[in-house]
Formats: sequence, C-alpha cells, structure tokens
Amino acid sequence: MTTRIIPIVNQLTNDLNLAHFSATGLLADTLARPLRDLRISVTDRCNFRCSYCMPSEVFNKDYAFLPQTSLLSFEEIARLARIFVAHGVEKIRLTGGEPLLRKNLEVLIEMLAKMTTVAGRPMDITLTTNASLLGKKAQSLKDAGLQRVTVSLDAMDDTIFRRMNDVDFPVADVLRGIEVANKVGLLPIKINMVVKRGTNDSEILPMARHFRHSGNVLRFIEYMDVGATNGWRMDEVLPSAQVIAAVNAHFPVAPIDANYLGETAERWRYADGGGEIGVISSVTQAFCSDCNRARLSTEGKLYLCLFASGGHDLRALLRGNYNDEQIASAVGNIWHKRDDRYSELRAALPADTQIGDSKKRVEMSYIGG
Ligand code: SAM
Ligand code: SF4
Ligand code: SF4
Repeated sequence: MTTRIIPIVNQLTNDLNLAHFSATGLLADTLARPLRDLRISVTDRCNFRCSYCMPSEVFNKDYAFLPQTSLLSFEEIARLARIFVAHGVEKIRLTGGEPLLRKNLEVLIEMLAKMTTVAGRPMDITLTTNASLLGKKAQSLKDAGLQRVTVSLDAMDDTIFRRMNDVDFPVADVLRGIEVANKVGLLPIKINMVVKRGTNDSEILPMARHFRHSGNVLRFIEYMDVGATNGWRMDEVLPSAQVIAAVNAHFPVAPIDANYLGETAERWRYADGGGEIGVISSVTQAFCSDCNRARLSTEGKLYLCLFASGGHDLRALLRGNYNDEQIASAVGNIWHKRDDRYSELRAALPADTQIGDSKKRVEMSYIGG
C-alpha cells in the first residue's frame, strides 16, 4: 500500500500571527500610536444612497450585499470587543452601512455597555446614524446603555437633502430623530455634515444657524477619497479653513483645545455663547500621527486605515478553534506592525494624486466611517 501524504493546509491567511502577545492595555504600533478606538460595522446595508458613500449606480438591486451567515453575530462581536478592550480600547462606535437597520441592535449595546476599560472606567459607547429610524429607536437604545449618538445630516434645505440621500428622504424626519435623541438624553449629540463643493456648500450657514444654541455640536467633514466608487475629485473638496471663514464671517468663532489626544475634529466656539462647532479636515490636514482607530468590518475583518485595501480575517479565528488568548495575540501582532498613514502621505503629493490602487480600496459602508 502506498502512503499518501496529506499536506496540512493552514486555514488562516498568513497575515495572522498567533505568536504570544499579551493584552496589557499598552499596545502601540510602529509610530507609537495606541489602540483606543474601535469602530464596528454591524451591517453593510443602508436605506440611503448618499453619492459620496453608496452611489446608486453601484449599490443597486444587483449589488451583492453580504449574506446573513457572513455577518458576525452579536456574541462574536462582543467577544472581539472584549479582546480589543483588553488591548486598550476605551471607545466603541457602532456604524455601518446604517447600524439601526441591524435587528435587535439593543441586545449588542447591552453586551458592550457592561464592559469596562483596562483602567476600570465605563466604556464610551456611541453610534453613527443617518437618523431615519432614530425617532423610533432612541429610547430603546438609551435604555440598552448607549450613551450618545452622532447623526449625519448634509443640508437643512429639503430639496438638497433629498437629492443627496438619493432616496427622497425628507429632512424633517431626520430633525425629528435628533429631537427625540435630545429628549431621551443621548448626549452630547454630534451632527456630521459632509461638505461637497458645488453640492451643499450653500448649506454651511443654514446648518450653523440651525444648530447654534441647540447644545448639539455641528461638525463639517471634508469630502474624502474613501472607497472606490464615489468618483472623488479634489475640486469637490471644500477645505475646512474656508468653511470656518464662511461661518466666522456671520457668527464669529474662536478655536478651542482638543478634548483628548487623537480627536479627529478641530474645535471652535461661537464668541456669543452659541456653542461649539468642529471641522474634520482629513484631506487638507491629515491627522494620521494621532490615529488610534481600528475598524472591524461587518464580516469580521480588521482594517487599520480607512484607505486600506485589505483587512485581517478575525472571523476565521472566531469560527476556528482558537481561544481568546490566541485571538488577542493575533490582534496584538497586527497592531504592533501597523504603519498606516495614508492621508499624511497623500497630502505630501500633488492634488488628485492617489496612492496605491484606488479601485481596490474598501468601501466606507463596509468598514464604517
Ligand atoms: N449610515 C450612518 C451615517 O451615515 O451616519 C453610518 C455610516 S456612514 C459610512 C459614517 C459617516 O461616514 C457619515 O457621517 C458619513 O457622512 C461619512 N462619510 C461617508 N462617505 C464619506 C466621504 N466620502 N467623505 C467623508 N465622509 C464620508
Ligand atoms: Fe448610508 Fe451613511 Fe453611507 Fe449615507 S453615509 S449611504 S447614510 S452609510
Ligand atoms: Fe488613520 Fe488612515 Fe485616516 Fe491616517 S488615513 S488618520 S492612518 S484612518
């Protein structure tokens, strides 16, 4: 009888290094950046089709969204979250796609809200939403332990807003969602407006006017070249400096200090006590040097940068026979080797230059913003 040698096939991709790496809460990457912020995408689906994120020509009825079996279960997400927290994560943001489309999300929030940081403090648990379902869900989210929300809203003008979400969703319903979130105490609420030159820059002042004195913090986000489908062009980016100049001309503002190291938004305060605004200048003022964020995709891939084209398959470990210590080692080894600083590198190049193959870049709706 001849002996057949069956090769042992490593089921794991070779980017997963299981060499022991203790979770001490002190993990740092090659640029000495700690791991503090975990963004978890709970669905790749959305009921909006914002052109800068999920253009309807691409995300149409033929688009293959992930099947249910591919998604991490709540138990799997919570298990990974515990491992990330042991490595130093203090803040978890649920995102998507539209996170409120994920059924029973409150169950996941309850699981996450029970966790504490390495230092024994409560975790900061938040969620980014288009607010289409917020009016209905705000109370149950709050009851489950969610502390606050960030709402995306790109215009006060109903026509412009309906055009931007591309599903004819009215601005009044988003405003109602924000009102309910304020009432139930999901505070402080941040309002994110992606500014696209020539599309909604006329809405900067109406948005500023509406949210002044509301207690909600409006943040203007530069339109970014994330993903591979939005047809990004530099000439559609309105630099934050111009946004601040426009606001300042009507409602004088002065800069204020960051709340913490690694905060993405630069903060400004209205001189008349009208509250605070922020700008997120990912394009014109890269903040990679403080970037302490990891992103977990809907199907359990770990991404180290918004502009990455590949992720590390943690689901293979969860669904293989690996214990928490091994998974923690894999996460530790991945972060320890991290050297991503896409925006900084791109900023040093001429406008419109792309680094790497922009067609292979992962979509924002898949890894979450
Ligand atoms: N659906 C939710 C929402 O819109 O709030 C959560 C997911 S969405 C991908 C998260 C954030 O990413 C939103 O605030 C959205 O405006 C932002 N975003 C998406 N594409 C962007 C782009 N190309 N440039 C800048 N921000 C973008
Ligand atoms: Fe949906 Fe949010 Fe992307 Fe708009 S930005 S398409 S609401 S995931
Ligand atoms: Fe972080 Fe990548 Fe954005 Fe730089 S480009 S701030 S490394 S996500």
